[in-house]
Amino acid sequence: MTERAHNFSAGPAALPTDVLEQARDEMLDYGGTGMSVMEMSHRSDTFISIAETAEKDFRELLGISDDYHVLFLQGGATQQFGAIPLNLLGDAQSAAYVNTGSWSTKAIEEAGRFCTVRVAASSEGTKFDRIPAVADWQVEPGDAYLHICSNETIGGVQFHDIPAASVPLVADMSSDILSRPVDVNRFALIYAGAQKNIGPAGLTLVVVRKDILAARRMRDGSPSMLDYRVHAKADSMSNTPPTYAWYLAGLVFKWLKRQGGLTAMAQINRRKAQTLYDAIDNSNFYSSPVARENRSWMNIPFTLPDATLDKDFLRGAEARGMQNLKGHRSVGGMRASIYNAVSQASVDALVSYMGEFERERG
Ligand SMILES: *Cc1c(COP(=O)(O)O)cnc(C)c1O
Repeated sequence: MTERAHNFSAGPAALPTDVLEQARDEMLDYGGTGMSVMEMSHRSDTFISIAETAEKDFRELLGISDDYHVLFLQGGATQQFGAIPLNLLGDAQSAAYVNTGSWSTKAIEEAGRFCTVRVAASSEGTKFDRIPAVADWQVEPGDAYLHICSNETIGGVQFHDIPAASVPLVADMSSDILSRPVDVNRFALIYAGAQKNIGPAGLTLVVVRKDILAARRMRDGSPSMLDYRVHAKADSMSNTPPTYAWYLAGLVFKWLKRQGGLTAMAQINRRKAQTLYDAIDNSNFYSSPVARENRSWMNIPFTLPDATLDKDFLRGAEARGMQNLKGHRSVGGMRASIYNAVSQASVDALVSYMGEFERERG
């Protein structure tokens, strides 16, 4: 087998090798059926069992009660930017959004097609380097919900506490779901595209409180495929779901349980992030643009003293098996995405290379 890369991709991102090996072993013949999971009817007993087990494990990992639906959908987190207002506005005219970076901005733009968006707070004035102080957020009782992005994948800004909310709280957790325990009961709705921390692209998870769906009606004229009630009623099989991605997500959930669940993952992830932030903070060469208390454990942008060094840094990293460290074009510099499947050993390799590069070029 060729050696696996140290893969710091922001998404689609690294998956656990154990999971890929299991998928490989089951590729041609899943459990004696003589076919691949991707060749099976979604209505077959075999697939329904795969689907139900995955949902059960996901609920167990996050502690999701029966008060919530869990939906396995397509269309990415981006589709949810529109589906959320269509499902949750009800008779309200406005929704509140906190703007902490690129993904919040996109969610705001899309919601603006359907309602008045109240930007409750924004850190745009400081280049999205922090979470605006919660005490200053402007939310009105008439706002249908309050939307946050729990982890800004591009800027590397993360909520480390769930903010108090006077209206139902909605969170885009695409890039930090399953990285740590979360009190789901504090949220009306949580959504996440799978390709960061869950599985392959093509699957989107939505966790939504049943009573809110029952109390609010879908905006007139909306496609039924965007209606959570339609998907909930059909156990996410109103049309063909992304079966193979659902299966792989299920393997990832089993893997997470074997690691000790989300409490164990939080410890591992915190240590990985600390290793990298220490390396940045203890050098006069690398810097982090993010306020310390809001730094992400998942996506860590950092810059070199001079952007002309970036190319050499990346070339050296690739020569040592480290891939996808180039920062997002809107931020520049580097970004290491260190989701659940990225090991401490990969972070250690990066930190060791950073030290080496600094000694040579600093
Ligand atoms: C990647 C990402 C998205 C967009 O996801 P798609 O699946 O490409 O639509 C939205 N929000 C966050 C926080 C992300 O990381």
